[in-house]
Amino acid sequence: MPLCPYCNREPKEIPEYVELANRLEMSPAEYVRMDEGTYHLQTDLFCCTDCYIKQGLPLNTDLIHAFRRYRAKVLEFERR
Ligand SMILES: [Zn+2]
Repeated sequence: MPLCPYCNREPKEIPEYVELANRLEMSPAEYVRMDEGTYHLQTDLFCCTDCYIKQGLPLNTDLIHAFRRYRAKVLEFERR
């Protein structure tokens, strides 16, 4: 399931995506995977609009670094 690592919310928990997905008759997760500009396939992470603004409109390359670090940390944790 796609996740915003900044607020730990899935698309279905974010009203903006729920509404857009409903309009297109798809699930919020499908919507994010298809249409969210910050969505990163390899990590299955994205940055929701609220967090994007709070982070100061980061570049996609910066987001991808953050996503990779986040996933690496989770993997480390799961191995313990
Ligand atoms: Zn967020």
